[in-house]
Amino acid sequence: MKTAFIYTDAYLDYDYGPTHPLRIIRLKLTYELINAYGLLNLHSVQFISTLKAEEENGAIFHSQEYLNILRQANEGFLPGDAYVYGLGPGDNPIFPGLFNWSLLVTGATLQAVDFVVDGKGEIAFNIAGGLHHAMRSRASGFCYMNDPVIGIMRLLSRGKRVAYIDIDAHHGDGVQKAFYETKQVLTISLHETGYTLFPGTGFEYEIGEGEGEGYSVNLPFPPFTGDEIYLWAFEEVVPELIHAFQPDVVVTQLGVDTFYDDPLTNLHLSIRGYEKVLKRIKDLAPRWVALGGGGYNISNVARAWTLAWAVMNGIELEEELPESYLKEAMRMGIEEKELRGRLKIPLHSQNKENRMEMERVVHTIKEVVLPKIKG
Ligand SMILES: [Zn+2]
Repeated sequence: MKTAFIYTDAYLDYDYGPTHPLRIIRLKLTYELINAYGLLNLHSVQFISTLKAEEENGAIFHSQEYLNILRQANEGFLPGDAYVYGLGPGDNPIFPGLFNWSLLVTGATLQAVDFVVDGKGEIAFNIAGGLHHAMRSRASGFCYMNDPVIGIMRLLSRGKRVAYIDIDAHHGDGVQKAFYETKQVLTISLHETGYTLFPGTGFEYEIGEGEGEGYSVNLPFPPFTGDEIYLWAFEEVVPELIHAFQPDVVVTQLGVDTFYDDPLTNLHLSIRGYEKVLKRIKDLAPRWVALGGGGYNISNVARAWTLAWAVMNGIELEEELPESYLKEAMRMGIEEKELRGRLKIPLHSQNKENRMEMERVVHTIKEVVLPKIKG
């Protein structure tokens, strides 16, 4: 089996700003840890240096007027009607090079797609990708261009059936919306319920429309859901959906903001639970385009995506973090010395109400959604 890792240090030329929760340095830190474990020197691994996408690659999904605004915003100044397009102080700030940043991330996703669809290998990982909130003509939730949608559209143009699995704590609303009326793409999003978290969508009754009815699936979890309930719900629903749909390629958004110590969300997953989900996705995906996503505790991001990359390559890692990484991490105030660490999750993570709520959601999906899906 061959795998590809797509990365460049050029990501570090960009910065959302000193108070913004999305810190691009997390990508560098992840790369450093993966490299320190020797996971880029395996015979089966191809390292691919990120190449910027062209503007016309973005135009396959985004409107031309929105791309024009992003191009103007690239100078670092607010264009006249930027607010209409979701840009401005707050979630989606204007910073120098923001269009170049978006084209780089999108380029890496297209490289991952090409690696898999051209038959060079089975799995490709773009840790910078997964910017799942961007809409056709609007920036949203730290996302300017929707690289998962653009990547999936390239797969469709190559005649592939695509299942999209999104395990970020936030609902994958931009991807769901893009494919809401088609049965060519099955979108499955597992996330914290929209009652308590941005973007406020992703309820189990959002199942697609018209030809796409049944091809959008949502598992909204109540706050404080832990590994046990999460893994149970995943197992009840996702394998059956994938078997029914029979995708050629699985695209995943692997956000790591579901952890109990993530500063922005309220789910209570552990890195061990995350690893188990990754192993199941590997079993289920005939070919796999893996994208990054959220994650606002940068030590979690580096360790979880290193574990994810190890799972993709079928490698078991030492629990002790490599010395060269620890030096780098210590400079950023990171103290963890173990890959998975000790479990410190509060016991109330596994409460009875959450279990009952997810039994209801799982039942609804099995009764209403699953029978509509055809392979
Ligand atoms: Zn997120």
